[in-house]
Amino acid sequence: MPDVVIIGGGLMGMLSARELCLSGLQVTLLERGQTGQEASWAGGGILSPLYPWRYPDGVSALAAWSQARYEGLCQDLWRESGVDPEWTLSGLLMLGVAEELEARRWAERWKAVLEVFKGSDPRQWEGALGEGAGIAGLWMPEVAQVRPPRMVRALRQSLEKLGVEVLEGVKATGLLVRNQTITGVATQGASVAAERVVVAGGAWSGQILTESGIHLPVEPVQGQMILFRGQPGLLSKMIMGRGYYLIPRRDGHILAGSTLEYTGFDKSTTAEASKELREAAYTLVPALKSLPVVHQWAGLRPSSPKGIPYIGEHPAIKGLYVNAGHFRNGVVTAPASACLLRDILLERTSSLDPAPYVFPCSPSSRSNSKERREV
Ligand SMILES: Cc1cc2nc3c(=O)[nH]c(=O)nc-3n(C[C@H](O)[C@H](O)[C@H](O)COP(=O)(O)OP(=O)(O)OC[C@H]3O[C@@H](n4cnc5c(N)ncnc54)[C@H](O)[C@@H]3O)c2cc1C
Repeated sequence: MPDVVIIGGGLMGMLSARELCLSGLQVTLLERGQTGQEASWAGGGILSPLYPWRYPDGVSALAAWSQARYEGLCQDLWRESGVDPEWTLSGLLMLGVAEELEARRWAERWKAVLEVFKGSDPRQWEGALGEGAGIAGLWMPEVAQVRPPRMVRALRQSLEKLGVEVLEGVKATGLLVRNQTITGVATQGASVAAERVVVAGGAWSGQILTESGIHLPVEPVQGQMILFRGQPGLLSKMIMGRGYYLIPRRDGHILAGSTLEYTGFDKSTTAEASKELREAAYTLVPALKSLPVVHQWAGLRPSSPKGIPYIGEHPAIKGLYVNAGHFRNGVVTAPASACLLRDILLERTSSLDPAPYVFPCSPSSRSNSKERREV
């Protein structure tokens, strides 16, 4: 019997598995499809919340902790897997920002480097910017990026090397609970016994738990992206303007994102979104008009109220944990979230305060006493 079963093979599930395995636990991870093919593949990989001063401290704390360790983590994963997650210090230039005071206060509090510029032409910062891109802005030189499809591939191979049991094509269909204590996970095949279960099912986490009689307010919010194929050198910085962003990759591809759509669990891409993203991209960098769009995709962000994820043990069901609800910031906050979950599960003192992320204590999350809870 494994020490821990994790439901979900995205960044949260895989990084949690890695941390628990490195701490000496035997871990089994259940993924209903293939690991790393949902939001954690689809994300932009910007290692900072967008407009970070607009988020509560709980998000800033996870982001700051992770940012300080991301480069090292990527080097470890590269060494363990042979796949480079492409951690790149490209910096983030935010145009048309009016909240100078809030941004300065936030930067001071979280010790982030942030330069404010107004009145000067932003093209002296990034030559390819268009005239309509916006004037007043902020420059955050310490913001890096990773390439999510590579990050998840590296993680998957690292898990294999470490000896984590990864069961792909295995959907968790229910939580097995006896006397308010977790005893395992039901799947479409055989059930898997475990005294500790972590739900890290991304946008599906609410569904997995809610349909088991446990309330967790995590819902899907769709985001669409497009990818331009270009040559390296057109852009060097990540650019954010009018709510959209451009991310230059090392090989010259430029990613433009993203939409924010409430379509349930539907992940279809649309011509309207492609048009919206292309128009926003052309306003920021007119030279993109001459580049082909080679790919469009959608992912489902796991949204939670105020974007603060849930990381911790259920208040009434012993051995049931969650690491979910990271919304728009799951790539940047994943390392801290996995380490905090590990510390909570191992009952260790953590360098992160667990208080902002506690499992919500709703009536339905306490009262259900069914022995077997089917999803
Ligand atoms: C378009 C877009 C852009 C983004 N950009 C950024 C960014 O630049 N920076 C940033 O920090 N964040 C970004 N994000 C957010 C980030 O990608 C997510 O917050 C993060 O990837 C969530 O990871 P996760 O592991 O919780 O979820 P997921 O990656 O979705 O993984 C959940 C996994 O659980 C599996 N699963 C579900 N139900 C079951 C079940 N019953 N049994 C077994 N397995 C199950 C799924 O198949 C899936 O593989 C972006 C997201 C999107 C969509």
